[in-house]
Amino acid sequence: MKLIFERSVADRALTLLPECDVEKTVLPEGMARTQALRLPEVGECDISRHYTELAKCAHGVNDGFYPLGSCTMKYNPKVNEQAAALEGFTEIHPLQPQSTLQGALKALVLSEELLCEITGMDNMSFQPAAGAHGEFAGIMLIKAYHESRGDTKRTKIIVPDSAHGTNPASANMAGYTVVSIPSNEDGCVDIEKLKAAVGEDTAGLMLTNPNTVGVFDKNILEITKIVHEAGGLNYYDGANLNAIMGVVRPGDMGFDVIHLNLHKTFSTPHGGGGPGSGAVGCKSLLTPFLPLPRAIKNGDKYELLTESELSFGRMKEFYGNFLVVIKALTYVLTLGAEGIREAAQIAVLNANYMMHELADCYEMAYPGYCMHEFVMTLENTKKQYGVSAMDVAKSLIDHGIHPPTMYFPLIVHEALMVEPTETESKETLDEAVAALRDIAEMTVNNAEAVISAPHTTPISRPDEVMAARSPKLRYEF
Ligand SMILES: *Cc1c(COP(=O)(O)O)cnc(C)c1O
Repeated sequence: MKLIFERSVADRALTLLPECDVEKTVLPEGMARTQALRLPEVGECDISRHYTELAKCAHGVNDGFYPLGSCTMKYNPKVNEQAAALEGFTEIHPLQPQSTLQGALKALVLSEELLCEITGMDNMSFQPAAGAHGEFAGIMLIKAYHESRGDTKRTKIIVPDSAHGTNPASANMAGYTVVSIPSNEDGCVDIEKLKAAVGEDTAGLMLTNPNTVGVFDKNILEITKIVHEAGGLNYYDGANLNAIMGVVRPGDMGFDVIHLNLHKTFSTPHGGGGPGSGAVGCKSLLTPFLPLPRAIKNGDKYELLTESELSFGRMKEFYGNFLVVIKALTYVLTLGAEGIREAAQIAVLNANYMMHELADCYEMAYPGYCMHEFVMTLENTKKQYGVSAMDVAKSLIDHGIHPPTMYFPLIVHEALMVEPTETESKETLDEAVAALRDIAEMTVNNAEAVISAPHTTPISRPDEVMAARSPKLRYEF
C-alpha cells in the first residue's frame, strides 16, 4: 500500500485553525525550524481511506480470534467504555477540590476493595501504568519493608526459570540480584532447589501460579512457607488472573504482594500501546510503603492520602490511569462474584477443550489438564518436516487467526502457547481447532506451503530482528 507521503499532492491541503486566542511569541534564535514542515497534503477523503486501509492491516480482538498466551486478549464489553466515558469521570481534573471529586475517589476506593477481595490482599494502589511497572512497585514494597527493619543483607530475589521475562528485569531494576531456579519436569517449582536457594540473603520470591506453562503448582503453600521461614516475602505475578479469579486467592496461597494487569484480566483493550494499569496489591504489613497518593475513605468522606513517612514514593503523576480502573470496576460490577468465578471456569474449560481437540495432532509440552492456557511444542515436527512453531503461527494468519504466543516460555522448545479466554464461543474454538488441524495435515502433505506462509498478507515474512532493532520510523524524502 502507499504511504501517506506518497499520496501527497502539493497545495492540496487546507488548514482551518481556530483564531489564536493567546499572545503570539517568537521562539528564540536557534530553536525555531529553518525549513517549512513537510507534512503530507491530502484531501479528507484520501486520508480517511488511508487510515481505513491501515486499520485493515491490523488484527484486533474485534477482528477475530486472538489466542495470545499469557496476554489474555479477551473481548472487552463496550459497556466498560460507556462507563469510562461518563462526564463525571472524564471532565474532572486531579487538582480540583476533593469535595468535588467524591464520586471519582469513591470509585477508586471501591475498585480497591473489590480487587482486594478477589486477590486476598488488604490494600492496593493504582499508580503503576503497566504490568512491569506494577512488578517494579511490588518489588520496591518488599525492599522498603526490609529496609524499614534495618535488614539490609537481603540482596536476592528468587525467580523460577519459567517466569515471565519482566520478573527478573523488575527485580534487577530494583537493585536485586536475581537467583534463577530450574523448574521440575511438570514445569513447577523444584522444592529441593528452592530450599537450597533460600537463605539470609533472600529478599523474596517472584512467582505466578498457574505458572507460565499453564500448570497450577500444587505445592504452593509449601513454597511460600519456605520463603517466609527464610525471612523473605512472596510476590505473585497476577498479570493473568483469568484461571483463578473467584476460585482461589493469591493472598490465601501465602503471597504478600501482587500486581494485576487490569488491561488483561479486567477487560481493558491492550496491545496497541494504549494506557494500562498494573495495580499493585499487598497485605497490610506492606500498606505503609505503598506509592502515594492513594484514595481512602475517612468517615463518610473520600480523600487522597498524599503523605506517609514510609511510602517508597511516587510511580506516576496523580493516581495512575484512572479510566482503566473505571473499566475494571465496571467489569467486576457487571459480572459480580458469581460471574467472575464463572469467567475463570469458562476460561479454563475453553483451554482444556482446545487442548483436548488438538492432542492427537500436536505434541503438548505438559499433557493432562491445563489451566487457562496450554503449550504445544513443535520440536519434533521441526525435526521431521522442517515446520517450526513460527511456521505454524504464520500459517494461522492465513486462517484469520492471530498467532499464539511463540517461543515462550523459554523452557519449552519450539513453543506455541494458546490462551483462548472465556469470551470465545464453542464455534470459534471449533474453527480454530479446524484451522490448526488443517495446518497439521498440510505439514505432513505439503510442508512447503506452511513454511512459506502467510500467503494472504501485504507482506509475508519481514526480517523480525531488523524490524525490532532498526525500524524505519520516518519517511525519507
Ligand atoms: C503481560 C505480562 C506482564 C507484563 O505486563 P505489561 O503490561 O506488558 O508490562 C508481566 N507478567 C506476565 C505473566 C504477563 O503476562
